[in-house]
Parts: sequence; C-alpha cells; structure tokens
Amino acid sequence: MSKITINQLHMALSEANSIVLTVHIRPDGDAIGSMLAFYEALVGQGKQVRMVVDDTIPEKFSFLSYADSIQSVDAFDWSQPVDMLLVLDASTYERIGRVGALCSAPIFNIDHHISNTEFAQGLYLRPDFAATGEIITDLCKKWNWPITESMGTSLYLAIATDCGFFKFSNTTFNTLEMASHCVKAGARPNIISERIEAVSSERLELTKEVMQTISFYKHNTVAIISLERKHMIILGDDTDGFVDIIRNVDTVDIAILLKAESDNSTRVSLRSKGTDVNRIAAHFGGGGHIRAAGCTIHMPLEEAKAVLLEVI
Ligand code: AMP
Ligand code: MN
Ligand code: MN
Repeated sequence: MSKITINQLHMALSEANSIVLTVHIRPDGDAIGSMLAFYEALVGQGKQVRMVVDDTIPEKFSFLSYADSIQSVDAFDWSQPVDMLLVLDASTYERIGRVGALCSAPIFNIDHHISNTEFAQGLYLRPDFAATGEIITDLCKKWNWPITESMGTSLYLAIATDCGFFKFSNTTFNTLEMASHCVKAGARPNIISERIEAVSSERLELTKEVMQTISFYKHNTVAIISLERKHMIILGDDTDGFVDIIRNVDTVDIAILLKAESDNSTRVSLRSKGTDVNRIAAHFGGGGHIRAAGCTIHMPLEEAKAVLLEVI
C-alpha cells in the first residue's frame, strides 16, 4: 500500500492512538503551520500526540500556539510506544532527517510535492494543492473536525507562505476557499503577515550587500542571487525572501538562490515562471514542484553555480 484515499487516511488515524508528527528539515511555514494545527486537531480527537523535528525551529514561528511543544530529536523520548509516524509536507524519507531511523512505527505521509517518492506505507498526496496546510484544512472541513482560532492562524500561515501570499501560480479557488475558512476561524491575515515579513534594520543592511551578488545569464532569463559563507553565518536558517528579490524581474524565467551551507556544500532554491525546475532539482537529487524546487549540490558555491548553469 502506498497511495491512500481520504477515507483510508481517516481509518488509519482512527485506529492509531499514539501518533508522532514530524516535518521536513529546514522547516518552512507550511511544515510548521500544518504540524501545529494537525497536532491540535488530533489532540481534540483524543489522540496522544507528540511533535519532533530534526532541526531548529525558526524564531519567527514561535508566536504560533504549541510551537513550544515541538521537541528536538535529542530531547524526545523514543522509548514510548508509537502507533503511527505521521510525516507532513516532506516528499522523501531523507527529508525528515534522523526521525525516520529513530522511529520504527508505520509511516503515513500527507504531502503536496509532485516529486514525492512514495516512501510511506500510506501516502495521501495532493499535488493539486498549493500547501500541506490546504490539505489539512480540507481534511478538517470534510471530517467535521473543529478549526479553532489557533488552528486557523497556523493553517493560514501554512497556506499563505507556500503560495507567496496568494500570488503564485499554485493559488487556486480551493486555496483561497481554505484560507477563507481559516480567516472565518479567527486567523488575522495582517497580523500573520506582520509577524512573518518583519525585518530588522540589520537584515536590511545585509540585504543591500547580498543584492550586489545578483547576476544574470542566458539573455537575462536566469537570475542568481548568492548568500556567501559570511552572509550565512549572520543569517543562520532564516533565508526566506531572498529569491523573491529577483523572481519578479521582467525578463527572468528562472530565479535561483544559492546558499553556501559550508565550504563544500551549496543549497539551491529554484523558482520559475514557466520552466519545470523540479526536473532541474531532480538532476541533483532534489525535488519539489514544477515552479518551486530545491536541491543541495556538494560543491563550493561558485562551482555549484557553474554546473547548475550547464544543466539549465
Ligand atoms: P525551497 O527552495 O527550499 O523553499 O524549496 C522549494 C520547494 O522544493 C519546497 O516545496 C521544498 O519542500 C522542495 N524541496 C526543496 N529542497 C528539496 C529536496 N532536497 N528534495 C525534495 N524537495 C525539496
Ligand atoms: Mn515545506
Ligand atoms: Mn509545502
């Protein structure tokens, strides 16, 4: 069994008592928002639920309810019995880090990535949905599970961050409809935007420097912005928004953010207006969606840039 229907997912959840939730490493708004909301929903259904992530949780998500209940892999009590490991917003087994090896329970996966490798025993996949948060909202609606104000806030954040606050091509009627249910539940779009998009003056100073790295290729259809080691040391895990600086340039089809994770490893974020960047990311062992994907190239930044431009 790999792909499952909504009813099979419901059945599997009703049979599980102790559930561990996890999401992909370098968690984004969709991963964290979906997990916190589904945590609350499952607790509301009388389940014993715990959350574990094999990475640090960006500070900007700390205002969400239950964010302080997310445990690190090291603090987590792995000896307690677990009926189900429920993986949200992660498309491969590797993307959940050490949680996969540390938890021996059957794996279920709720995801929206077209590149999903079907690693789970039960996979509820909706590549037609903009965000995992959109799936979770839909499930709660269909199952008549109440959406509280805090769930609405987490789910709105999850949906909005994965569709560029309703600007990207993955935004559909259903995306907006699910977001409207979140607002009905009490989510405040302006407050959530303020929290997520707030920048310090130091960060803006750094952005001025990072903008000097912008370069154009292939008749200005490809733009690259780079976070070098010196930038990464200051920024840590909070690198959201940099690729958006170049994606709107009128001639640009593919926008690329390169992040020097170490002297020998470069994280790549790809965004496009038309080209299938999932295919480009897959070439380097990554994946994602047709118009937003990522991968890691095990080379220094400048070399990674060169091999990437050869593949495009
Ligand atoms: P990012 O550029 O990190 O924001 O990622 C863009 C999209 O691609 C997100 O939906 C990610 O979940 C996905 N993605 C990023 N890196 C990988 C990877 N190494 N493998 C599979 N999917 C990825
Ligand atoms: Mn994600
Ligand atoms: Mn997502």
